[in-house]
Parts: sequence; structure tokens; C-alpha cells
Amino acid sequence: MGRRGEFNLEEEPGRKGNGIYCSQGVLVFTVLTVCVLIAATSLMTYYIPLSLKDDGVATKAPAAWTDAPTNKPMATDPPAEPTTTPPSDLMRGRLPKTVLPRRYEVNLRPFLYDDDVPDSKMGERFTFDGWVRIKVECIEPRDEITLHSKNITIHGMPTVLSVSTLDKTDLFESYKMVEEYAFMILKLKQMMKPHQEYDIYMQYSGILGDDEAGFYPDMYLDRFNNTRYIATTQMEGPYARRVLPCFDEPTFKASYDVQLEHRNDMQALSNGIETKHIRLDGHWSRTYFERVPSVPTYLLAFVVHDFSSINVTNANGCLIRVWCQPDLIHLAPYALNVSDRVQTYFDDYLGSEYPLAKLDHIAVPSEVAMENWGLIIYEDSYLLYGLQALYGEAYCSETITHELAHMWFGNLVTMEWWDDLWLNEGFATYMEHIGVDHVHPEFNKFQSFYNDITEGALAIDSLGTFPAIRAPVYADDDDISNAFSFVTYYKGGSLLYMMEHFLTIEVFNQGVKNYLKERAYKNANAEHLWHELTYADRDVGKHDVKKIMDTWTLQRGYPLITLTRTGNSIVATQRIFLQINKTIEDDGFGDLGYKWYVPLTYVYESGPGDQYEKPQQVWMEPSDDYTYFDLPDDAKADDWYLANAKMTGFYRVNYEDDNWQRLLDQAAMDPDVFSEENKVGLIKDSFNLAKTEVVPMSYYRSFSESLRNNSRRTRRAAVSTSSYFAKMLDTKTNIKRRSAVQTYAQSLVEPLYMESGWDESFVPDLPAASVRRGKSSRFDITSIACRYGNRHCITKATDMYKEYMNDPTYNTIPDNFRTTVYCNGIRFGGESEWDFAFDMLRTGDDRHERARWASALTCSVDASLLQSYLQLMMDSTTFSRRDVELILMGVAENPDGCAVAWDFLRDNWDAISTM
Ligand SMILES: [Zn+2]
Repeated sequence: MGRRGEFNLEEEPGRKGNGIYCSQGVLVFTVLTVCVLIAATSLMTYYIPLSLKDDGVATKAPAAWTDAPTNKPMATDPPAEPTTTPPSDLMRGRLPKTVLPRRYEVNLRPFLYDDDVPDSKMGERFTFDGWVRIKVECIEPRDEITLHSKNITIHGMPTVLSVSTLDKTDLFESYKMVEEYAFMILKLKQMMKPHQEYDIYMQYSGILGDDEAGFYPDMYLDRFNNTRYIATTQMEGPYARRVLPCFDEPTFKASYDVQLEHRNDMQALSNGIETKHIRLDGHWSRTYFERVPSVPTYLLAFVVHDFSSINVTNANGCLIRVWCQPDLIHLAPYALNVSDRVQTYFDDYLGSEYPLAKLDHIAVPSEVAMENWGLIIYEDSYLLYGLQALYGEAYCSETITHELAHMWFGNLVTMEWWDDLWLNEGFATYMEHIGVDHVHPEFNKFQSFYNDITEGALAIDSLGTFPAIRAPVYADDDDISNAFSFVTYYKGGSLLYMMEHFLTIEVFNQGVKNYLKERAYKNANAEHLWHELTYADRDVGKHDVKKIMDTWTLQRGYPLITLTRTGNSIVATQRIFLQINKTIEDDGFGDLGYKWYVPLTYVYESGPGDQYEKPQQVWMEPSDDYTYFDLPDDAKADDWYLANAKMTGFYRVNYEDDNWQRLLDQAAMDPDVFSEENKVGLIKDSFNLAKTEVVPMSYYRSFSESLRNNSRRTRRAAVSTSSYFAKMLDTKTNIKRRSAVQTYAQSLVEPLYMESGWDESFVPDLPAASVRRGKSSRFDITSIACRYGNRHCITKATDMYKEYMNDPTYNTIPDNFRTTVYCNGIRFGGESEWDFAFDMLRTGDDRHERARWASALTCSVDASLLQSYLQLMMDSTTFSRRDVELILMGVAENPDGCAVAWDFLRDNWDAISTM
């Protein structure tokens, strides 16, 4: 799936309404996110120094040591194994592998309009009829077959016939449903024989659900303002079972022959290319699709639509099409161009060509970005550059690239179970940079990797609340949905980026190519990847990749490395870095002591010109309390040294005071000797260490002063840290402290506000790497500046709001600034401003506007208004699940609403978590 809805504790203060890329189960995720957000906000209040003066102390490492440097060849060491085994009940709710599906034939007919209904078996709109034939192979002799089925009505009785023998007796005896696991168990009259094939056939009906999971209806307004319906699917996580009885786990890959029946004035798409189209009668047609091999159920896709398309055949002969509602087709060429170029590039880069005859990209109105094999489904504004001002080229190209990467990572090679979802999402996140760099080299994507991906993961992972990226996942809808976490995507991507650097890009790429080749059309787990990377490295670095990476993937968190220099020698120690002292839960696969194999890189003041490309490297090992090494001989006594060259390592670093001072002096004098990534890294590391009182706050302040005007990236880094201070701007904060914080936060934001502010024509010199991350977009700047009390910003926003209230028939507020204007209109307004907004929310039918109003209403500083708003949102006739997510997140993010959200969540936990 596309990147998950993100929240970042240090980013985008006051920013609301950002997209969440997944559907079912996301509310539970949101609720958990809100909890984390609330907890983190309280921590911040606890940890913030009483003033912005120095009041921290640097942690000292032991000053004496005797041993020589350690840098052992890793592959010769005995492999580290997790010390405990996974929980024994982990297989609860999992399908037995006594029979395996080999081929499905499936036929579906959705009923979208009133005049479709007479042909529906359920006699209702928004249902579908279908049948499925599944050819299974018996592996172990059994007289029952267990598969998944949910919310499906079976018509008549299934049949089970032997394919391999002449005996055509129906073996079916009875079936029962086990609701807890969505199991359908077919009882047979006799035992099946191993290696024989059997045909299961069922006729059934299902529901086109209203929660954007499984097969569901979507709608849009055409140019004559008529409501048009389409039917589309979202099978990931476990939602294929709502569309057809099937073996709904990722290892049960099979081939599919699909037929879709639809009105004569509509068309259909599925994973394979259309092979035949027949008219059944005056109302219905049937479209047949080419067989697609080796598809896990979560990658199936069916769309019935009345869209238009443009297409191109790429250099490797694959037909690429972009589909959208007819009125938007003029926005499709950018997507077609990017997908064409990136797909061909990946064919070559990954050493295996995309194997299907076609790849469709379709833009639908609902919130989705799903990499179905051969048919990627996107929310329209993610795919169609220019549809929403908020989503620039960078955003659209990143999203397309992410989904394209899944054609290899997930589709060609599928994870065995959801506990290795990071192999899908980590790789897709990592590959975004490679694909976008190919089509937009001017974006300098790799320079942004740390800022866009790694830093966000470091921030979240230091809360200690997210499990390891390879933690156990139960066969349960919520558990599977929760696996799609920020950490899975961003820590996953960051660890791959770290591996690329310690193995070298050549070795890493070779290993990845081998992995794709070896596991093509099959399933994989992380062990397969470790094996191929170790093999590719056998004559180069000889790393034992499994041993190293187990410490990163089976444990939550990451280390803080503390370095202390005496003379030319350095001692390094590691400990887990957490924002608060807490006991870390066991991650389920084992306890490795929360120590890591750390590829510690560094550069130094007198180092060679290319040292950021070829930094010094030392391995730290979990079993060593201290790691000793010497700086190179040409290092001078008063040289600074700087660890984590280009910020490719997943750790933070602390130094002895003298070195911090030298780095501070260098930053003040000539920061350009540092790499771009390390400039941002110095701001972020010093900030995070100051927050946890490892170093004085003055270090962060000085780095931020010296570096923030150095480049747009450093400016943004400074702005992003400022959101930490925003958390202290609630109305209950001591007024003196509040004003000091406000002045400081304003000074951080002012340069960017002055530069872009309300200028609609301003195009940032760097892309919005992800607009939702709010780091590089001008649109956030107005929001942040207003948030910190910039008078100019607030006056401008409230004036625009009043103007709109005076004449609501015509909205002159530019799209890009509506979020800021609505939010501040309400924040600084009274009851009439609130009522106006609520009316707009209630009566509006534009979903983007609705989302803006739903979020803007959470900007109020009046706790009682926020409280009644939360009560109102529980009314499902006015508010959708999506609204509830936006509102909960918004109130929790509002410093004046945080406590309100927490109380509400506690009082209404059951109702919300089951929504
Ligand atoms: Zn994805």
C-alpha cells in the first residue's frame, strides 16, 4: 500500500487533514496514533527546560581504556540467534496447508444503479453476485478444506469434484463457518488423496461495502452534475475474503482467470489484460481477462467503471494506461510519462522485467494507493498531477514510484506473512528515491533521504511504543492493519539505505537482484534477503548480514552512540535511545539485549576531500561494552570529528564536550565543510539529545542559528524542530514562558515565511518530498507562522475568513491556503465563525472541502466547543469514519484539545475502536 498516514511528533504543527493512505482498520491505527501523540505531548511538557537557557549536561563515556580497535570480519563470528522463540499461539487463526489453491476462476457482477437491481440475487443495490471455481491440490490426506469467507452469502451448496480421476462424484457433504477467523470449513464425504487436484465451486453474493475494503462502490460527479458510480477493490490487508471465498493469506499464491460482468455502458479492468468482451443482453456485458500467474489474494483487483484512458507501449513492450474520470483526462499525461520511465528504469535496475502484458494506473475518488499486480489503484489527486494544488510533481512521482516498486517487492516476490511486511513497504519506500531521482534528478532525492525518511523513523522509534519491524503478527484484522505502521515503512526504508552503505551499492544491488531472481513468483522472508546479501558480499566485505540485521529488525528502537576522544584514540559505547526512561516490551521474536551491530562511520577536519563518500568505518558489536579505535594518523590534535557521515546510519551520536564545541565553532565559521545531510543531522541530533537532557539546549540553539539559513533543507529542519515548542503554546502555559517560546519559534519560521508566505506563484526550489510531511511545502509555512502568532499571517488569514463569511456564494481563498485560513478563522473567531464552519461542513458535498472544514473545526481554543464537536462526530449519519479520524487527530494535535481528546478517548474507547 502507499505510504501510511503519517504523524510526526516534530513536524507540521497545526497542519490538518493530511491524507491517510489506507482504508479498513485505519481507525484503530488513528486511535493508537492519537494516544501516542497525547502521550508524547505530555512527555514534551515534562521534558522541556524551564527556559531556553543551557540546563542540560553531556553524558560522559568512560575515559580510560586499554584494548586495541576492534573491527572483526563479521562473517567469521558465530551467528547471533534470538534467545526466545515466537509465541506458540501465533498460528491461531491461520489456514492449514493441507490443500493449496492452484487456480481460481472467478466471475463477478456488481449492481451499482437502480436499474441493475432486478437482476440481483439479493434484490438490492450495492451488492454483487458471483461464482468461483478453485482448483486445489491436496498435500495431506484430509476430509475437510478450510478457506476464508466473510460477509458472503452462499447460494445453494458448494460442490467439490476430483479433477484427476474419472470419478465425478460430488465429495461435498456440508460446510460450517467459524466467524472468529472468517473460516469456511468444507466437510467432504471422503478423504482427499495427496497430489490429486480437486475443484471447489460456489455461487454466492456479497456486499459492495461502505468502508472502502473488499469490493466497494465509489462515486463522482460528472460535468452535468450527475452522480456516477464505479465499483473498485481494496484487498489488502485481509479483505479478499469479502469478495470471494478464498485462501486469504499471502503465501497462498495462485493463478486467476477473471470475468467481470457490467452494464453495457461501463467497462471493466482486472489484473490481466482484457482478452474478450461479449454482450450478454440489452443491459449486461462480460469482459474476460488474461490469466495472471502467482498472485496472492491481497493483490487481486476488480474495477467496473466508465472512465477514459491514455496509453503508451513502453520500450519493453508493456502496455501502460492511465485511467480517470473523463473530465480529468487532461491531467493524466504526467502520470503516464512518470510511470513509463520509472517502470522501464526499474526493469533494468532490478535485473528482471515487469512480467505482465499491461500495467494500468487508475484514479478513483476514494482514499487509496494500492499496488495490485497489473492494476494500481490511486486516489485521483495522488495520480493526477495538478488536480490538487497540495500535491505537486514530487508527491505524485513519489507515489507512482512507490507503487511501481511493489511490482517487484510484494508482487513478484511476496512476503510469507505480515510480519515481514517491511520487505514490501521498506523496499517501496527505499525505491521511491531511486525512481524519482531518475525522472527528476533536479530534486536531488538522495540528499533528502535522511530528512524525509530516516529522521521521521528515528523520532517515532525513540518513543519505544512501536514494535520491531519483524515483530509477530496474529491472524487478526487489527493486528494485520497495525503492521502497516510508520515504522514498517520508514525504519524499513532507512535500514535498507544503511545496508546499501555498509555493503556498498554494488554489493547491495547484486544481492537484491539475486533475491528477486531466486524468489520470483514465490514468497520470501527476511532470511532469504540476508542470505542473498551475504552471498553477494562473500568476496568483498564478508559481512554476516543476518547477524547484523537481526539486531536491527528484531528489536525495537535504536542506539545512541557516545564517543569520547583522548589524544588520537576514541572510545565508543552504545545504549538504546528513548525519549523517556521506560521498560521496553519484549518484541516477541527474542531479546538481543537492546544492543546493535553498528556500522559507525565518521569524517574528521583534516580528512580527504572525498571523505563523505568514503568515510572511515568502525563496527561496534553488541557484546562489547566499549569499542576502541584511533583516528587516522593525519588527524590533528584539535581536529573535530563527526560521526554518521551523510546520516546513512540509523542511530544518533553524542560526543565529548570538546568535540561538540569544535563542531559548533566549525558550524559558525564555515558550515559548508559539512555534507548537506550532516548539517541537517547536527540540528536534529543536538535537538533530540537536548530534549532528553543528554546535551545542553544551547548546542541545538547554536547549530540552529548557524545552520538554519544555510540552505532550504536546514531552514526546514529548524522549522520542523520548532513544532516541539508549538506544543507549549496552549492557553494554560505560563504567560512568560509562552511568550519566550513564541518569540523563539517565530524567529525560526520567519525566514521561510518571508520567502514564500502567501505568494501563490512561489514554487519552492525543492519539491515537497512529501507534502504530508510538511517539510518543504510553502503551504505549511503560512500555517506554522500563524500558529506561532505571526501578526501579519493571522490578520491576513482572519480577514480572508471574514470575507468568505460575508459572501459564502463565492470562495476566493486560493486552494493552497484554505486549510490555514479556515483554521485561523476559527481559532481567532467566536461562535459565529464556528457556526459558519459547521454549516459548511454539514452542507458541503466537495470531499476535499469537507475534509478541510472537519479539520479546521478542531483548531478552536475553546475546550467546551471541542468537547461537543467530539460528541457530534459520533453521529454516523453526518460523519464518516474518515471524518472521525480527521477530527480525533486534529483535536489531539491541538495543544488546547489534547486533554479533551484523551478524556473523550477513554470514555468512548469501545465505541471508537469498533467503528
Ligand atoms: Zn506500499
